[in-house]
Formats: sequence, C-alpha cells, structure tokens
Amino acid sequence: MLKWPDVLKLAKEGNPAPDRKVTKTEAEWRAQLSPEEYRVTRQAGTERAFSSAMCSLFEPGIYACICCDTVLFDASEKFESGTGWPSFTQPVEANVVAYHFDGPAFLKRVECVCNTCDGHLGHVFPDGPPPSGLRYCMNAVSLKKAAAH
Ligand SMILES: [Zn+2]
Repeated sequence: MLKWPDVLKLAKEGNPAPDRKVTKTEAEWRAQLSPEEYRVTRQAGTERAFSSAMCSLFEPGIYACICCDTVLFDASEKFESGTGWPSFTQPVEANVVAYHFDGPAFLKRVECVCNTCDGHLGHVFPDGPPPSGLRYCMNAVSLKKAAAH
C-alpha cells in the first residue's frame, strides 16, 4: 500500500515503469476526446467541483483512464471526501499512477497522471482516511466507470 512518504519519494526520484505506454499526438487526442476531457487530461485542467454525478456513486466497479483505458482505481477504494471530486485512497496497482511535483518540491503539491498515457488525473493529498492516509482527488472527466472484471 502506498503512503504519503512513498508518494513523495516517487515524485522526487522517479516513477515505476508502467506495464505499457500509450503515446498519441495532440491532434489524435483532440479527435478522441471531448473538449472538456481534452482540456483536463491533456492540458492539466480542473473541472468544476460537484460537476459530476460520479462523486456520489459508490457501486462496485472499476475506474479506467478516459484516454487509454488503463484501470486506475477500484470502487472499493472510493470514499466520500465532500470536495466535489471523486476521491480514492489507493490505485489498483502502484505503477498505474505517476507522481510529479506541481510547483516547487518544498510545497509538496503532487500531481497525478496516468502512468500509461501521461494524462492528467488530479492531485493526491496526505489527508485521506486510514490505512493509507491518502486522498486521490481526481477529475471525473479523466475517468470512466466500468463493471468489475
Ligand atoms: Zn491513460
């Protein structure tokens, strides 16, 4: 299980290799995604809080990257954060999310991107519930929900 010191270490020293890598041109992403999906995932935008019904859905299932279909989160790790963005305590595997400092490292503001396609997902904060203590604050448009495997 990843905890905050692990996240900081990954952001500082480098992320684990993903199982596969998806690379497309900006034109290809633009053709595949809606304007809002493109703005958030490829230009590191942020959707309006409380803009998605996904925040208050807790049915079993998995959440995959809207860009490349890599499974990122399981509904069992989803919790009600009250922030207006879907929130998770842990990714499904340690190598599906990559971490980068957003701004100077001393601020410890950590951006999350899809480790497979580098799509922007959101940020992770050290104020989540136990046992991980992490809060993955994700943009709903960066994710697509699917039934469990
Ligand atoms: Zn992706």
